[in-house]
Amino acid sequence: MSTRAIQKAGAPGGPGHYLTNYAEARRTFSWADARLALTGRTDPTLNIAAETVGRHIAQGHGDRRAVRFIDRHWNRVDLTYAELQRRSWRFANVLRTLGIARGASVATLLGRVPELFTVALGTLEAGDVLSALFSAFGPEPLKTRLQLGHVQVLVTTEAFYRRKVAGIRDALPELRHVLLVRDDATQAMPPGTLDLAALLAEAAESYSTAPTRDEDVALLHFTSGTTGKPKGVTLPHAAVIAQHATSRMVLDLHPGETYWCTADPGWVTGIAYGLIGPLACGASLIVDREEFDPERWYRILAEERVQVWYTAPTAIRMLMKAGTALARAQQFPALRHMASVGEPLNAEAVTWGVEAFGRPFHDTWWQTETGAIMIANFAACEVLPGSMGRAIPGVEARVVRRTAAGRLEPIESADEVGEIALRPGWPSMFTGYLENPERYAAAFADGWYLAGDLARRDADGHFWFIGRTDDVIKSAGHLISPFEIESALMTHPAVAQAAVIGVPDPIAGQAVKAFIELRRGFTAGEDLRSQVLGHARRLLGAAVAPREIAFSDGLPRTRSGKIMRRLLRARELGLPEGDLSTLEGKE
Ligand code: ATP
Ligand code: MG
Repeated sequence: MSTRAIQKAGAPGGPGHYLTNYAEARRTFSWADARLALTGRTDPTLNIAAETVGRHIAQGHGDRRAVRFIDRHWNRVDLTYAELQRRSWRFANVLRTLGIARGASVATLLGRVPELFTVALGTLEAGDVLSALFSAFGPEPLKTRLQLGHVQVLVTTEAFYRRKVAGIRDALPELRHVLLVRDDATQAMPPGTLDLAALLAEAAESYSTAPTRDEDVALLHFTSGTTGKPKGVTLPHAAVIAQHATSRMVLDLHPGETYWCTADPGWVTGIAYGLIGPLACGASLIVDREEFDPERWYRILAEERVQVWYTAPTAIRMLMKAGTALARAQQFPALRHMASVGEPLNAEAVTWGVEAFGRPFHDTWWQTETGAIMIANFAACEVLPGSMGRAIPGVEARVVRRTAAGRLEPIESADEVGEIALRPGWPSMFTGYLENPERYAAAFADGWYLAGDLARRDADGHFWFIGRTDDVIKSAGHLISPFEIESALMTHPAVAQAAVIGVPDPIAGQAVKAFIELRRGFTAGEDLRSQVLGHARRLLGAAVAPREIAFSDGLPRTRSGKIMRRLLRARELGLPEGDLSTLEGKE
């Protein structure tokens, strides 16, 4: 935990930060004020779409660019807030014309295209439940999710329909309508489908927002499936209060600023911070329709003059792998704040931000279940590389231990590891796991929500990630943090990514095995293996350092970019591989 803090002089010439003094912000913050800052009203009748789009139009900002889509050929399509509103109203009318009642589930299986925004906002406007599915899912994972979500309307492309949905349609009796974004208007529509563009063209352009209440379910997200079978998580309309507040406090996003969230809308980050939060802030969003590519990403950051950038550790490590020179070849004068989420962000990656962009990445921690960022490094505060930061104002977060009597008690010492626990009461907390009320109930105890992640918390309230409860390793009575070992391995110049697991050991109980992916220009071999082992032993001590190191061409990752340690473990031990629906590269 002894990392040198990165001090910041503020952003001269930029807009003032929303959060300038952490202690003061914690003392004065209230969710009632956060709601007022968003809606100006106190009655509990929120609707996410109205708060993200309608409000800006009412305030005279309808002509502001809401989102810019960039395609493979660098063609740009811009939509203003007013245009988003018109399109979403049309879609809400389409749902009513099709006889879809309020509260029904509407799913999307689309790339990062304008129709996604139309359908997402229109669904919320109509008081229906939005479930944005990851577009690379194949038929089986789709079937499970569409069934579990009782989805009545699916919006997808003609190609996806033919390839992935037509064959499972019979297994989906609740799916009443499939609406297609057409690839080729000259071909006949597949049987049992409707043309989205034609329906939108016929629909009326005004709609009176459904009278949703704060607690009504608005969003259905499936978790990443990192630790097991993905869970269906429901979030209420009130989530927008926390997503807006954190887009301001943590992402420091101001009206009119250019913002890029690289997450796909098929995961919670892509909706909470790729759509709802930043639109609620009145920002101007960049959406790249293409997949990750270092040169392309640098060009987008530079040409689009991105000011605030929210990305993920895997992407950052892949940029590092491509070399600092590539980043330095571009200028990013507009870029003023960079944040990360999804996986532990090693100190090395935080400080690489300074090397490549002149500023550190700010780690943030949250989960599908929390609906919004809960722990963060703030733009105006110093950054401790390797720490996830501190609880956001309005949220009490601690690490807790279970006492002999089975109670939970907050841990005061920074030396003791415990489970991250949050005091319920923030507006974006999940309202349930689909069809699994027992699991939902089991996530709460003694007035805390238990996150399933282990951490330490220092005297100043900084959290230091240790690992998932399912991933930690116990060796010779010590609890070993996978994150700490992986971070140490990644300080070796040859190591681009690392993942460690516990393997059975007759004496210690478990021993550490590491899988490493090499940076460009390094070759796997015995020499390198002993160099990396030696490096790890020097940094970590022999008791904690990996006993074994294996080279890997590509670590198994979820499609949202998280290393699946459970799969490495299962393969190592010859156990069943479990649910692989979110494994990258699989359809
Ligand atoms: P599943 O619950 O299906 O196993 P998942 O937990 O990966 O999947 P998400 O809700 O997408 O699904 O991810 C939340 C988890 O990601 C957190 O509980 C935590 O383990 C990890 N995570 C997110 N941000 C961070 C971070 N900044 N540092 C460390 N871990 C993080
Ligand atoms: Mg989880």
